[in-house]
Amino acid sequence: MLRPMSAALVVSVFFGCNVPEGAEPEEEVARAQQEEALYSQTGVTMWSPGAQIPVCWVTVGNDASKAIIVNAVRNTWERHGNVRFNWSGICPSTGSQQFVRVLVELGSDQGGGGSSQVGMAALMNPTPNLSARSTHIALPLSGSVSRTEYLAVHEFGHVLGFGHEQDRGDNTSTSHPVCNPAGSITGNNFSSYDPESVMHYCNSGGNNSGRLSQRDIYGVVVAYGGKRGGMILSDTNSGLAVNAYGGASHLGQLKLVNNCTATNTDCTWTYRNGMLLSDTNPGLAINAYGGASHLGDVRLVNNCSPTNTDCTWTLKDGLFVSDTNPSLAINAYGGAVHGAPLKLVNNCTSASTDCTFTYRDIPIRSSADEGLMMNAYGGAAQNALLKLVNNCTSGHPDCTWSISRGLISNRAAPSLFVNVESTGTGVSPLKLTNDCSVGTARCTFTLTKGMVVSELPAAVMNAYGGPSHGAELKVVNNCSTAFSSCVFAVSGNP
Ligand SMILES: [Zn+2]
Repeated sequence: MLRPMSAALVVSVFFGCNVPEGAEPEEEVARAQQEEALYSQTGVTMWSPGAQIPVCWVTVGNDASKAIIVNAVRNTWERHGNVRFNWSGICPSTGSQQFVRVLVELGSDQGGGGSSQVGMAALMNPTPNLSARSTHIALPLSGSVSRTEYLAVHEFGHVLGFGHEQDRGDNTSTSHPVCNPAGSITGNNFSSYDPESVMHYCNSGGNNSGRLSQRDIYGVVVAYGGKRGGMILSDTNSGLAVNAYGGASHLGQLKLVNNCTATNTDCTWTYRNGMLLSDTNPGLAINAYGGASHLGDVRLVNNCSPTNTDCTWTLKDGLFVSDTNPSLAINAYGGAVHGAPLKLVNNCTSASTDCTFTYRDIPIRSSADEGLMMNAYGGAAQNALLKLVNNCTSGHPDCTWSISRGLISNRAAPSLFVNVESTGTGVSPLKLTNDCSVGTARCTFTLTKGMVVSELPAAVMNAYGGPSHGAELKVVNNCSTAFSSCVFAVSGNP
């Protein structure tokens, strides 16, 4: 449902509830049947899981805003759901290939607005008609980046088939007469009714922030499948894997079990910004429950953030060490056997295999664009360079890695390890080599806060020249989490 711009202004002034989409009145008439909202209305055609959705821009210009839009969508829907938008420049006027046609132009009020076709109905044929668009983003006159991000994430939520959350039939809260009236629309619910959804007009972000709620993250995974990281295997017995015991849920326990497979998302884990996220529900993160302490529980919780050190972990020399207290590490309590619970203890060392784990068969991605993956360039071979590339397929051996006792090995050639070519300080390439063993400093890396830190002094992995296709991976001496070229993630499907 679209609201005319004038109403949006009145509402935001008098009621403090920003209605998001100040669309032109004629669009309201033209699209009232289609523009409905993490549920999908009956009749909406969803994309297939794993879909690569072709997107083009209707007009030239507004390049800085387009970059904000692409990044906002990449960091939200694409980051969590198994869908990808392929951005392909200016829309063709001839031919037969269909695109989601996105018109970006300056709006006519401070908050801007938007509208979109919903689900696969957004695919349109080539046409030279500049008014023919699937999705419209009218940029805010205020120039607000966060508002632009909101418009992008909300409208692309529609492209993914999601309707306005407040309109769901199970919304009976009616907290606000204008932006949250009682809902009545039936459809397919991917998560429970969520007043915090980016698709809800009354969310507490004030329609001014392109963030997904926890249930948005869960919903897109239910609708499209999630990314899948890798299994975390005990070094005592590689047949035992870390499992969200009984199924991933808030406050759920973590145990070692002997019946995990790489396709069971209760057994695979994504590492992002220092957090270990459930692949069943990436809104759940592994947490030092009740605060990191000796013999403290390790559980899944739904309220983690990368700034909470009870939710972030450093993988160093095989140990998952607490970022609250580095003397505490995750332990297969009582010894690594089927059913052993995971707890934090203060007496782990790398020599105890009940305390060390192998993160098996993982892709290593740029956090700035998770479509870019670490690749043994030209194929895994002695002295092969490592680069970020955008054409890795899921599970391709040249793009798949394991981390064990700080050594990063390649799946295609498990005797080849990532190695800092020059041990001096400064910039040095990373290459594969066969002469690594546990404790070799130039071959040893720690995963912390999303950074891949060499054991050598002042040497952190960097997508040299910026995270883009073909960027060489090198170590540099000036990385921090503030630089997107220095931050990496482990998550599944390309
Ligand atoms: Zn909308």
